[in-house]
Amino acid sequence: MIFENPAGAPELACNHCGCRWFDRMSGACYECGEPVPRADIDAYHAALQAFHERKGIHANDPSKDAQMSERWFEDYQPGAVHELGTLQVDADEVLEFARRYDPQPIHTDPALAARGPFGGIIASGWHTGSLMMRLYALNYLSSASSLASPGLDELRWLRPVRPGDTLSVRVTVQDARASASRPDRGVVHSLIEVFNQHGEPVMTMRAVNMIARRPAQA
Ligand SMILES: [Zn+2]
Repeated sequence: MIFENPAGAPELACNHCGCRWFDRMSGACYECGEPVPRADIDAYHAALQAFHERKGIHANDPSKDAQMSERWFEDYQPGAVHELGTLQVDADEVLEFARRYDPQPIHTDPALAARGPFGGIIASGWHTGSLMMRLYALNYLSSASSLASPGLDELRWLRPVRPGDTLSVRVTVQDARASASRPDRGVVHSLIEVFNQHGEPVMTMRAVNMIARRPAQA
C-alpha cells in the first residue's frame, strides 16, 4: 500500500503488516515475509516522481556544485535540490567498518549473514551515514561558512545496503532562516535522501546546520 508521510511524500508499506522494509531482490517484506506486489512498487515510483514534479524538485548539476567551494547562508535556497554525487559501497570496507564500530554478525560474518534475514552481509547503517557524510561535507557544506550542527531528526534506514551497491545522495533545502539572536548566521534545515543504484531510498534524515552569512562587501 502507498501512504503519504508527514512531508506529503509517498511511502510504500507492506499490505499485510504495514512495515516498510523489503528485500529488494525478492520483494518480500522483512517483517512478515509477504510479497510486495510489483504493481505497488511501480505505483510507488510513479507517485514519488509526481511528488517531485508537484513540488518543482529538479536535479542540479553535481559537477557544478562540487566546484562551488564558497557557499554562504544566502546560497541555501528553500526548495533547491542538490545532487551530491555517488559512492561505491566497498565490500572490504563494509566488514572493516563494522568490525571496528558495529560488530554484529549481520555486518561482519558472511557465513552467518548468509543464513540471516537479508541473505548476506549488509552495511552498518552508521557506515551508510558516514558515506553520506563525505558527500555532504564536500559538496553541500562549505568550509567557508559551515559552523556547527545541533543534530539530526527522523533518521531512517529504509532498505539494506549491500557490498557493491552504488549510493547517490540528494539534499533538498527545506528551510533557511536568519538567526534572530546572531546576525552573522542562519539556520538551514535539509532533507537528506540516500538512494541505491535502483533509485530506491535506503536512508533518509533531516539535518539542521548553522551557516554563516555572506560577509558584507568591503
Ligand atoms: Zn509485512
